[in-house]
Amino acid sequence: MKICFASHNKNKVKEMNEIMPDGVNIVGLGELGIIEDIAETGSTLEENATIKSSYVYNKHKLPVFADDSGLIVHALNGEPGVYSARYAGEERDDQKNMDLLLKNLDGKTDRSAEFCTVISYIDEAGKKHEFTGKIEGVIIEEKRGNNGFGYDPIFRPSGFNETFAELSSDVKNRISHRAKAVQKFLEYLHQTNE
Ligand code: IMP
Repeated sequence: MKICFASHNKNKVKEMNEIMPDGVNIVGLGELGIIEDIAETGSTLEENATIKSSYVYNKHKLPVFADDSGLIVHALNGEPGVYSARYAGEERDDQKNMDLLLKNLDGKTDRSAEFCTVISYIDEAGKKHEFTGKIEGVIIEEKRGNNGFGYDPIFRPSGFNETFAELSSDVKNRISHRAKAVQKFLEYLHQTNE
């Protein structure tokens, strides 16, 4: 069974292929000849993931999934959310994004936040399925740690003393929002491929 992962990132596609059940072959956008970027114009993670999966399904009528992730900070009404990558501008600079977030949270007592991943999957028959993964935590006051990417140095998951950037990738990849969404998707595929 061939499933498209609506991503241009070859590493992400390769990683997905490695964890899929036997008999499932993941192909990226490049392998389908889709070279254009699919504009993420939605106002929620669900919308953006669905925009990407629908775009590919409408073109190729092939099972396809797309993901979208973001950081949701409660005291900032859910910001940066869908704008996580470009919070401080189109250059998508992790340091500037974190600095802006810390500035906007300055003086706020509620520093709770969650990372969220939504996977939108469209099956062969065109039916839509959604899988969500979340991890709660707090935004600390200063950056700590060198691992990971994005907001990892300022996010401390609940139940841990370390930030995502201080945890090993093994631990992060077990507990993260992305891991949880992928796990749910895999369980679904295992069930339907039995
Ligand atoms: P994407 O949808 O996976 O590309 O994530 C969008 C943006 O959300 C990233 O560019 C990061 O700024 C932020 N983000 C998503 N997941 C993580 C994470 O695991 N750690 C830190 N930042 C993340």
